[in-house]
Amino acid sequence: MDSVAEASNISARTTSAIAHEVLHRVFGYSSFRGHQGDAIVHVADGGDALILMPTGAGKSLCYQIPALVRRQRGLGCGIVVSPLIALMQDQVSALRESGVRAAFLNSTLSSQRAAEVERDFRTGALDLLYVAPERLLTDRCLQLLQSAPVSLFAIDEAHCVSQWGHDFRPEYMQLELLGKRFPGVPRVALTATADPATRVEIVERLGLDHARSFVSSFDRPNIRYEIVEKIDARRQLIDFIRADHADQAGIVYCLSRRKVDETAAFLVEQRVKALPYHAGMDSDSRAKNQARFLREDGIVMVATIAFGMGIDKPDVRFVAHLDLPKSIEGYYQETGRAGRDGAASDAWMAYGLQDVVQLRRMIDEGDASEQYKRVSGAKLDAMLGLCETASCRRARLLAYFGEDDAIGTQCGNCDNCLVPPETFDATVAVQQLLSCIYRLKKERGQSFGALHVIAILRGDKGAKSAEKIAQWQHDTLSTFGIGAERSEAEWRAIVRQCIAFGLVDIDHETYGTLHLTQKSRAVLRSEEAVHLRRFVADTKRKKTARGRKELDPTDGLDASGSALFDALRSWRLATSREHGVPAYVIFHDGTLKEIARARPTTVTALGEVSGVGEKKLEAYGRDIVEIVERLDG
Ligand code: ADP
Ligand code: ZN
Repeated sequence: MDSVAEASNISARTTSAIAHEVLHRVFGYSSFRGHQGDAIVHVADGGDALILMPTGAGKSLCYQIPALVRRQRGLGCGIVVSPLIALMQDQVSALRESGVRAAFLNSTLSSQRAAEVERDFRTGALDLLYVAPERLLTDRCLQLLQSAPVSLFAIDEAHCVSQWGHDFRPEYMQLELLGKRFPGVPRVALTATADPATRVEIVERLGLDHARSFVSSFDRPNIRYEIVEKIDARRQLIDFIRADHADQAGIVYCLSRRKVDETAAFLVEQRVKALPYHAGMDSDSRAKNQARFLREDGIVMVATIAFGMGIDKPDVRFVAHLDLPKSIEGYYQETGRAGRDGAASDAWMAYGLQDVVQLRRMIDEGDASEQYKRVSGAKLDAMLGLCETASCRRARLLAYFGEDDAIGTQCGNCDNCLVPPETFDATVAVQQLLSCIYRLKKERGQSFGALHVIAILRGDKGAKSAEKIAQWQHDTLSTFGIGAERSEAEWRAIVRQCIAFGLVDIDHETYGTLHLTQKSRAVLRSEEAVHLRRFVADTKRKKTARGRKELDPTDGLDASGSALFDALRSWRLATSREHGVPAYVIFHDGTLKEIARARPTTVTALGEVSGVGEKKLEAYGRDIVEIVERLDG
């Protein structure tokens, strides 16, 4: 080995040793997860990095620890660019709880407090400084950063540079200048957005061509995926919450502001602690609801997709969708907010034919370019495919993000793996549907929406359909009543699957009428068989429901362990109120559970528990040991 390689080897080893020491002393953890260790050494040694890890994988440590290591080496303060002003306070409080000298600069600070922070930066009294992007780009701030050493730049939520995503922030486009203004200062961009196109954009826009990429699997094994037929969405939602998530924190996503308000009101009526959140509310109420969600236990946030980026509450136990997301990217991002702490969590969605019709219309009616509409349409199709698949949902999700290893595997933790859906040879039913659409067009020159086509197939003379059928004399069509043996719900499921698989097209120029496609012909000519999932009326949920046990944080503890856990939680609540921080900033549920199991009776023994770092041991050690002894005594 030549001496240069040897020297860099030694430095890598020592960097790694220092990083481990910081991990243990400051954060109380014993080992790195996944790519964390490699990425941290790379950045601590001055390399640029692009870090792509799913939510909850531990991205924050990938810049926090390098900043602390470089601080020890006299290389200055780490700068974290984050778009989430409302959350900076909590992030900084959490670091301070662990003994890190952190601060933030954003528009919520008084000028006096901002001046103090600036002075602390200049005098080297800070390890990490969080800055909002628009503030960072001001001359004043750039000059400030040139007045003292900067150890690294972390660009959090780096997908905000992507103009295609809904989190786009124009200021992010200008962050490229950091590389030019601060040559030699390592930059690390981080995101949990999984799609390859966004990665390319991040590298291009931030000028990170030389950055090393650290890409993790995007699997979130603790999240259980479940997609059910929408029958009576609210009732299904409340059943789901009562069965598995009573008194637990969760997020319910709805498409429209009105539906958010209505659903929140409904849940409150049902005695669920629910709060609304959408862009139509004034910013004070929004901030208040967000703060309650973060600080109190067991709040359900009913929200539009305006809610969620950067919410690092670790114990969100479920994410429910009452409307179909527009893309798999969106679905993945939103469901990913469940279970950051690694404990069992649910991603649940109710979806129906109407969702498809509505989203197609929104895409078609928008002002966007043709190209944008085409891309959006394709993304929606992929989402439908995920909803209608009869095989493992996780495998499908991961394959979509390019993880080809997942194809054909079974995760054992999604509805399709747990209760494999029954499929049936639906060729005849689909032919009936297709020929009904065909006859309408051929014989009458007409096109109709799904509901009317289904009414014709069923020979439905019920009050609602009768008038329309009589008006158009559709009872004289040869396809009238040929599908009478199937219920309307069964037919809806068939139509939906035909749309998802491209056998039927919806046209919005004409209010959601159904049309044949290229693919329909082969089925009509009996050249191709079609297998579809069989419609099952709402009985499935009972089988995928876990019951409370698995989701109960005290699962696995004996009676006295549970009592200790409860006592620790009460202590944590009181302490977090005293400090004005969310409870999880003091200790996570997982750490409390570990304490309840280990029952440490000395401060030293408590220090061995994962999640208990030096500073917290010093601050809370005696209190906790006292609680353990009191309950044991
Ligand atoms: P992300 O930003 O990737 O969503 P976070 O940085 O918020 O994830 O980390 C998620 C949780 O995992 C945090 O509570 C963090 O303290 C914890 N964590 C991160 N790295 C480790 C580790 N090496 N060992 C144990 N816990 C960790
Ligand atoms: Zn599965």
